[in-house]
Amino acid sequence: MGSLPNAKRSITPNDIAALRHMLSDTNAKVLSPSDAGYSASIARWSRAAEKPAGVSIIPTTDGEVGLAIKYAHENGIDVAVKGGGHSTAGASSTHGGLLIDLGAAMNKVTVDPAKQQLRIPGGALWGDVDAAAWEYGLATVGGTVADTGVGGLSLGGGYGVLSGELGLVIDNMVSATVVLANGDIAVASETENADLFWALRGAGQNFGVTTELVLQAYPQGECFMGMMVFAPTAENIGKLVQAANELHGIRQTSEGPATKAAGRTMSLMGIVKPPPAEGKTAILVLVSCNTDEATGRELYKDFIELGPMVNTLGMGPYTQVNKQVPAITGMRSSLKGAAFVMPLREEFVHQVLASYEAYTAECEDAKESLVAWELYDPCLVAKLENGCFANRGHHFNSLVMPMWSKAENDQFCRQWARDVSNMFKKEIEAHGETASAGIEGGASVRGKKGAVLLYGNYDQYDEISKDIFGEHYERLAQIKARYDPDNMFNKLFPITPAAELFE
Ligand SMILES: Cc1cc2nc3c(=O)[nH]c(=O)nc-3n(C[C@H](O)[C@H](O)[C@H](O)COP(=O)(O)OP(=O)(O)OC[C@H]3O[C@@H](n4cnc5c(N)ncnc54)[C@H](O)[C@@H]3O)c2cc1C
Repeated sequence: MGSLPNAKRSITPNDIAALRHMLSDTNAKVLSPSDAGYSASIARWSRAAEKPAGVSIIPTTDGEVGLAIKYAHENGIDVAVKGGGHSTAGASSTHGGLLIDLGAAMNKVTVDPAKQQLRIPGGALWGDVDAAAWEYGLATVGGTVADTGVGGLSLGGGYGVLSGELGLVIDNMVSATVVLANGDIAVASETENADLFWALRGAGQNFGVTTELVLQAYPQGECFMGMMVFAPTAENIGKLVQAANELHGIRQTSEGPATKAAGRTMSLMGIVKPPPAEGKTAILVLVSCNTDEATGRELYKDFIELGPMVNTLGMGPYTQVNKQVPAITGMRSSLKGAAFVMPLREEFVHQVLASYEAYTAECEDAKESLVAWELYDPCLVAKLENGCFANRGHHFNSLVMPMWSKAENDQFCRQWARDVSNMFKKEIEAHGETASAGIEGGASVRGKKGAVLLYGNYDQYDEISKDIFGEHYERLAQIKARYDPDNMFNKLFPITPAAELFE
């Protein structure tokens, strides 16, 4: 690929005319800011992540994506790619550049029942995947909220309710079709462009426009699921922490580290102000358990016996698991991740609760915010080694999600997310070693692979690319030099192409 200057420019009226001409014989739409559909195209899950693109292209094929990308590359135009639009850092938006909006038309999932594989266009949402697979009694690891995009979530790693049993989304990736910076179309798999395939599985947003993913699926039945809501009393918190530690704590077994639930369940324990509690702070336990009802009730016995004020536990189709969290629209929001290890400490939950109470009391606009401990079984993810994902360890992810509506509160709400994330960092520094002692690789909280303790898809604040990609950064820079030497795909944890290529 020829090398162009790194500076990227905005779209001009001449560019729009040229793109319209170039794509006139295709089904792609070229939307300027005055066209119907443009506003929907630049809308994002978080209003705070929206930017005015110079032009939005709505492609229907990878060939159309290739033409637009080639034009942008040759003319040094800034490019953003939108999958499901859930990046809260604005990584799928461009101020004045060219937007490739995959979500509008490239989203029809097809199923190969013989191979049990799913062909997923780059703009599909997880709800599209779940629904298509379910028709054949199949499922794969996917996002826990159905309206999240497959593109960004998969290319950054991808945790889902089946991760305890099947690993990350990238652990189930069979191949990917990618439009490269020069407009060429490449297929990446273990046997074809294997270096690109390795890079896509963890740093995928840096290497091109992924127009199709093929994911392995598995036979799937109904699940035990639902929510329990508890008042945040000291007694409840003590017993909930105990129950969570019992169910999700990692023990050393003869077969390696494992949890009591043996990968079959994920629960999210969150501090929220949910509607059933009339806006009062509550502890939410959201259950997604891949078992029959009797097994599920047995696994969650300690939680159920506490007598939650809301209890919706029961069996339902797998498609419902990822719809338990209602789709949220029209808010400003940002995600901040943090890592934690089991066992949880009751005192720490109280500290986070106190911070949440103070923050939501000070800012009425922020009352939809939440903090969640994502409790799944990390043992399989820690064991697998696919791709460049650098966060494989015996730790868990927590999620700090401020949500608010007024731009004047941006700074205040984001600062709270930073503060809580720092509380998690301090907790793991102070207690992580003790907590993880006794499990294989647990002498260090980072496990034997030296996990970075950051999940790039959650951590889009102050972290830099080397924090996220860890020891894989240098190899990624080499691969970047081969596939995107002008650093065209640079919106999320950019990778500077290596100056020299080594074979
Ligand atoms: C409500 C909510 C729930 C979430 N739940 C989970 C969860 O269960 N598990 C989990 O692991 N993460 C979860 N996340 C985090 C999620 O992984 C990130 O927000 C991710 O960026 C979403 O991908 P997207 O396609 O919707 O976002 P977008 O904003 O469209 O894209 C994010 C990044 O990926 C790039 N990108 C998107 N599609 C493509 C493509 N096809 N080709 C190339 N680049 C592309 C974009 O350019 C951008 O850099 C959640 C986030 C939210 C807001």
